[in-house]
Amino acid sequence: MTRLIGIYGASGCGRGIMPLLREQYPEAELLFIDDGQAPGRVNGQDIVDWRGFLDRDHKDKAVSIAIGASRIRQVLAEKCALAAIPLIEARAASVVQMDEVIIGDGACLSPFVTLTSNISIGRCFHANLYSYVEHDCLIADYVTFAPGAKVNGNVAIGEHAYIGSGAILRQGVTIGAGATVGMGAVVTRNVLPGETVVGNPARPLIKD
Ligand code: UDP
Repeated sequence: MTRLIGIYGASGCGRGIMPLLREQYPEAELLFIDDGQAPGRVNGQDIVDWRGFLDRDHKDKAVSIAIGASRIRQVLAEKCALAAIPLIEARAASVVQMDEVIIGDGACLSPFVTLTSNISIGRCFHANLYSYVEHDCLIADYVTFAPGAKVNGNVAIGEHAYIGSGAILRQGVTIGAGATVGMGAVVTRNVLPGETVVGNPARPLIKD
């Protein structure tokens, strides 16, 4: 029987990930899973809710969680695990991956992402267009890179951290769990857990 792949999230992120999976798995049936949108069609694919996905009678099902918000990815990943539905990796054909790279389940690797050598990455990693990870980086679970995030060698990134579009991380820095690096920031020092940094050189964001 045909495999059924559900792309969780039918919004911006999901509509960018669907074409990758369509190319990777031309034999599979694909649909969007979305709990907040009315059932219907988008970009030529059905949208169903989670119940609708479970009700499909395919024996072989997998899910790609295509939602930028990492906490939601975690909740949905745990829901998939409870339902014994595996997470599948979405990977553009143009992704470059070198030696000794370990990646957890459910990554979404957009076009022109580069992962060089000796890198460890956790679950449900999202690397958007043109982002890169240089050698010897350690990236925890549920980390998100916006387009063009540049992560140089020996960097450690804690779970649920978000690296904004075009940000540059200097070799060897540590980004704490849940930290946010703003768009275009140049990070030259460690960032504390939960902290938001912006600018060049990146400094903690002081909210008025
Ligand atoms: N969503 C869902 N189940 C959840 C949480 C979110 O189906 O438990 C859907 C939500 O309805 C929305 C999509 O995920 O359609 C997230 O879209 P959004 O534009 O917020 O984020 P992006 O696509 O940019 O990640």
